[in-house]
Amino acid sequence: MSRYLRSVCKLCRREKEKLFLKGERCSSNCALDKKRGKNAPGQHGAAKSKMSDYAKHLREKQKARRVYGLTEEQFVRYYETAEKMKGSSGDNLFKILELRLDNVAYHLGLASSKRMARQTINHGNILVNGKKIDVPRYQVKAGDIITATEKYKANAVIKKLIEATSSNVPSWLSFDKNKVEGTVVSEPLAGEVSHPINSRLIVEYYSK
Ligand code: SF4
Repeated sequence: MSRYLRSVCKLCRREKEKLFLKGERCSSNCALDKKRGKNAPGQHGAAKSKMSDYAKHLREKQKARRVYGLTEEQFVRYYETAEKMKGSSGDNLFKILELRLDNVAYHLGLASSKRMARQTINHGNILVNGKKIDVPRYQVKAGDIITATEKYKANAVIKKLIEATSSNVPSWLSFDKNKVEGTVVSEPLAGEVSHPINSRLIVEYYSK
């Protein structure tokens, strides 16, 4: 998805649900909230057909890939890593994905979408434990402190954004608005994934 240049709204229409790929703007001006946007894109988007089991598994995997903004190759690599870890591959997969720095920066309100979070990390605006990290896939861990550069924090648009969005952080994160400082309180549990995704369907997709 990092190279997906067409309207990201098409991705939501394809999955027939809001994936919140434009962050804040998705709450106020979403095509899926209007009738015309509810069908999948393309000539046959409105056609109703019963999904095969394979299609259900594929769609869930594609949805997850789109929510986290990953290419197929990147997603497969995450899945392979999750499989090698102890415990449930599905739970492991989403734990790793949630702990990506771009996902965490977005949930702390330091960016208005995951796409913006990736850009701002690439530009060196985000610090982990006081050290500049410019790799969006960087894995944070429990106890890590996430902040931003002084220049980034001083930006009026960013200040407004933080004020508007940082009060809804997931329970495994905390955020101090005054200091503009986030903490990874713990690793996310299976039920704390930010978007409802059925990990079992994804495990079954890759197990076939
Ligand atoms: Fe577009 Fe956001 Fe609505 Fe998805 S949720 S269709 S990205 S406005």
